[in-house]
Amino acid sequence: MTSKHTLDENRAIADRAIKKYGSSPLLHLINGELVPSLSNGTFENHSPGDQRHLGSVAEGDSEDIAAAADAAAAAFPDWVSFSGAGRKKILHRIADLIVDRADEIAAVESVDTGQAIRFMSSAAVRGAENFRYFADAAPGALDGKSMPTKTHLNYSSRRAIGPVGVITPWNTPFMLSTWKIAPALAAGCTVVHKPAEWSPITASILGEIAGEAGLPPGVLNVVHGRGEVAGKALTEHPAIKAIAFVGESSTGSLIQAQGASTLKRVHFELGGKNPVIVFDDADLQRALDAVVFMIYSLNGERCTSSSRLLVHDSIHDWFVEKLTERVKALRVGDPLDPATEVGPLIHRAHCEKVRSYLDKAEEDGARVVTGDYDFDPDSNFVNPMLFIEADNSMRVSQEEIFGPALTVIPFSDEDEAVRIANDVEYGLAGYLWTGDVGRAHRVASDLDVGMIWINSQNVRHLPTPFGGTKRSGVGRDGGDYSFDFYMETKNVAVAYDLHDIGQLGTQTE
Ligand code: NAD
Repeated sequence: MTSKHTLDENRAIADRAIKKYGSSPLLHLINGELVPSLSNGTFENHSPGDQRHLGSVAEGDSEDIAAAADAAAAAFPDWVSFSGAGRKKILHRIADLIVDRADEIAAVESVDTGQAIRFMSSAAVRGAENFRYFADAAPGALDGKSMPTKTHLNYSSRRAIGPVGVITPWNTPFMLSTWKIAPALAAGCTVVHKPAEWSPITASILGEIAGEAGLPPGVLNVVHGRGEVAGKALTEHPAIKAIAFVGESSTGSLIQAQGASTLKRVHFELGGKNPVIVFDDADLQRALDAVVFMIYSLNGERCTSSSRLLVHDSIHDWFVEKLTERVKALRVGDPLDPATEVGPLIHRAHCEKVRSYLDKAEEDGARVVTGDYDFDPDSNFVNPMLFIEADNSMRVSQEEIFGPALTVIPFSDEDEAVRIANDVEYGLAGYLWTGDVGRAHRVASDLDVGMIWINSQNVRHLPTPFGGTKRSGVGRDGGDYSFDFYMETKNVAVAYDLHDIGQLGTQTE
């Protein structure tokens, strides 16, 4: 997890890309053409670090969404009839082109989001891996099951659901977009992508790459714009059969309501307030590394961040002392600097939200060990925050801060740890550290979350199910789970001519 370039080299790469994508408005991609908004509306995009103007962006509304949805609907019959092998070839070409441009994608992503280049370099490569994984799966996407009985052979098969909408957030926009778009294309769906308005550039780069790779016009469309206008219109459009959404839980609720009249199928990856539980029999050094990594990497702007540390009483003081040393030593700085560990937060509004938890922590009775009250109100940098002496009722324990902020809560036994871990409205991920195999499985079974890592940070394996319970999501994706979302399953029952058929209308009296 590092950048192979120096700060100056990364700056040069970013400058070249910003010159290319910022000198005229960033346009929509509709039916293979780069087009302005029908209204000619634009909005401005700034870098979170130095507030540099990154360019204007076409601001789409319902008319632009309608044009994109029409293009996706027109492209669907040919794309769904394309062979799996043909789709595989194009998706691999997209992956190749992502790899060729990975340095550029990483640098643009850092400048556009404030995320440190060390993480964006690997996120760009992971974007290519997402395409490769689903490219290889494409030829088998139609596969179903055979379910024979004594009298019938039942067999199922799958077919792409139709044009779909993909709506993504700003925290790791390129990687997350590929995670949604690659399986949709592999399944045979056509796509209208509405990227987050705070980080629009790499969505346009992906659209460009897809065209160069030979993806037919209209198969992937990109419409920029605000969530409550363009995003809303996408969720309401009748030609769009499903919405894959990643973002806040409250936005998920809105989308469910917006899509109700057209009976949209939805898949939601939403917020989290994920516990990491450290028992006293764990490998404490590895646990410490993972705890720090899982909340302070990616600026803490990560759905699976371990934002609540539940630590056993007997090791609490040792753990907090070591944690404090590490948090104080985190390198906050220019996101393009390979040494930077925490960059500027995406937007002033988000920064103010994150900073507000310094006061909220103290008002509720927690102690702020690190964190900076003397912040520059004109900058998006925050010093990583560590809250101790907390209990689970406090706002720093219950609310998703989505920044570099960790809340430490002590516990005295396994039951209490599980109770605290489950006592939040979210249920995305959980991490637990213990040397006791029985306890590891017991606790994993009792945690009400979608994903659990035992003695590990979040290490993704692409075939495994990804998603959350409670307010953290609806549905799963990853591997074949993604195809279940993007495809309709059909069952065919064929008789062996052995079964009885009730004979009606044969009674003589
Ligand atoms: P957000 O919900 O504000 O925005 C996400 C996207 O939805 C953006 O493209 C936005 O324009 C769009 N949008 C907003 N209102 C809309 C509406 N009414 N209709 C349709 N689209 C609309 O989220 P954000 O602030 O960009 O991202 C941060 C959130 O994303 C956090 O809560 C985080 O936990 C979550 N997230 C979850 C996962 C996961 O896998 N569970 C991954 C990453 C981020």
